[in-house]
Amino acid sequence: MNWSSNMPDGNAFLPYGRQSVTDEDIAAVTEVLRGDWLTTGPAVTRFEADLAEHTGGVPAVVVTSGTAALHVAYAAAAIKPGDEVVASPMTFVATAATAALHGAKVVFADVEPDTGNLAVDAAAAAVTERTKVVAAVDYAGHPAELDALADVAHSAGALLLEDAAHSIGGTWLGRPVGSIADLTTFSFFPTKNLTTAEGGAVVTASPELLARAQGFRNHGLVRDKARQRTPDEGGWHQEVHEFGLNYRLPDVLCALGSSQLKRLAEFKKRRAEIHARYNAALAGVDGVLTPPSREGADPAWHLYPLRVLEGRRRALFDHLRGLGIGVQVNYIPAYWHPVFEDLGYRRGLCPNAEAYYEQELSLPLFPALTDIDVDRVLDGVRGFFGA
Ligand SMILES: *Cc1c(COP(=O)(O)O)cnc(C)c1O
Repeated sequence: MNWSSNMPDGNAFLPYGRQSVTDEDIAAVTEVLRGDWLTTGPAVTRFEADLAEHTGGVPAVVVTSGTAALHVAYAAAAIKPGDEVVASPMTFVATAATAALHGAKVVFADVEPDTGNLAVDAAAAAVTERTKVVAAVDYAGHPAELDALADVAHSAGALLLEDAAHSIGGTWLGRPVGSIADLTTFSFFPTKNLTTAEGGAVVTASPELLARAQGFRNHGLVRDKARQRTPDEGGWHQEVHEFGLNYRLPDVLCALGSSQLKRLAEFKKRRAEIHARYNAALAGVDGVLTPPSREGADPAWHLYPLRVLEGRRRALFDHLRGLGIGVQVNYIPAYWHPVFEDLGYRRGLCPNAEAYYEQELSLPLFPALTDIDVDRVLDGVRGFFGA
């Protein structure tokens, strides 16, 4: 398939992730473009309602990115300077960066060596009376140990935040992602499980957290007269009681989101098929480990995280890139970024996460990948190992 530029041998370059956009999606977007609302209008309300159908009815606040969703979620949790946030380091830096931007001290707790998800015992050892949030990540789309992590958070008087940028559509013990943690965040970046180009959402069952999230999304503006300090100013009057930002997701993009959501189950199914095809073919290859699944998890696979043993990850990365196969590495431990290093975080802090990172290689995974594409990736991996 012709994703982008062709390789010299005539094979298309395969990206590691890619959106699926149909004529129906395009029609949904152009309909909004022709209408009265470009930004906050009926498509926002509709997309939020549509999202709730995938989170067991738990309401959503849509925002401009997964990063904005995290920033809003920490604002909803009233994170203040000096508070602590216990977080998984096996994630995109935004999970931790957005807490740091609120002045929190991020306390990284190690991951399970096989799933890459926040380890319950490590989280339990990391919480203190200053912990306000425990931030888990559903790495690669596989839900974290959400019930046990919620117990750890709640027993410390903290909230569980689930960064579900990878896992919308997944379930844990039969319950949908979004219906379990106190706060769940999604990303709708093009490589994720559904897209609005840029976009994200915060999901919470708590009316207080929801109201705070809605406030932070829109400058903290208070328009409800009953809540205003000087309600007699006149009909134009609005007040800011707490600082917020403009994180409003436009109607145009919400229309794309609602249209994409109709195919979420289809996307999840195709991603699972590709994941299973990789697993079946690679289980017997010496020198790699395939990703495990926990009993009770029904992942919405966003990544296929292969583990490459004996220090050969970089060589396999270069080999596959040379074949036009867009492999990726997810993720450098968040505290290895110089911004955290400059704050005093040192290598060696979370040995499981570091070992995981040293071995991890994400193979291409997106719904439009054909079995022929998958076999081309597999040939590339087998060729490298002489298998
Ligand atoms: C993509 C991603 C984010 C950030 O989402 P954006 O929409 O790109 O801002 C946060 N956390 C994780 C785990 C992600 O994969």
